[in-house]
Amino acid sequence: VKKERLDKILSNMGYGSRKEIKQYIKEGRVVVNDEVIKNNSIKVDPYEDEISINGEVVEYKKYIYLIMNKPKGVISSTRDPFSSTVLDLLDEEYLSFEPHPVGRLDKDTEGLLLFTNDGKLTHRLLSPKKGVNKKYYVEVDGYVDNRYIDSFKEGIVLDDGYKTMPSKLEIIESNYISKVHLTIMEGKFHQVKRMFQSIGMEVLYLKRISMGTIKLDENLLPGEYRELTTEEVEELK
Ligand code: URA
Repeated sequence: VKKERLDKILSNMGYGSRKEIKQYIKEGRVVVNDEVIKNNSIKVDPYEDEISINGEVVEYKKYIYLIMNKPKGVISSTRDPFSSTVLDLLDEEYLSFEPHPVGRLDKDTEGLLLFTNDGKLTHRLLSPKKGVNKKYYVEVDGYVDNRYIDSFKEGIVLDDGYKTMPSKLEIIESNYISKVHLTIMEGKFHQVKRMFQSIGMEVLYLKRISMGTIKLDENLLPGEYRELTTEEVEELK
């Protein structure tokens, strides 16, 4: 196991900013294996060493789970020389956990994006075999006929010949610009846009509103994020 700086571990875990933790250490409020630590740069093994702060034993947290309302204009891959990425929106205290986005949203797509460093959960959420639902709010050009509900249920053949798994189309409003919900269980490249393209319609606006049991938090403005609660993480697993 990798040893890490004591102040980093504690600030990562939300016990305070790096500066605050340094102050706590200076004040003798941090104990490692029954020894008061005065040097904030020492490295410890968070699994093996018993750390306490202000008399409270630290239960080491390995995984981080975040939900973001992704804004338009940022890409969701982890590195790009030309464009800002969703990782640029995360604070250092979260980046130190090395989270990755769970799946991708296009640059112009908004909405729910999860981040974690828990590879098992990522796999579970993205594997088409597991069939985790991803629900989108979509605005498309033109009227959406009711008969498309069945077409989407049966599967749509995309431009490359792939036939999608059953999906659920719900028409909110059919008009010059129509509003629908579409729920899919897989995540092919540009899937939603390509499904509509196959029926001759263009997606004008796309926002993911849920993934599995997690719904996009209406309190999160575009670009904002928060940690998932323990209950939310348990439900997802
Ligand atoms: N489908 C798309 O076409 N784009 C996204 O960003 C997500 C799903």
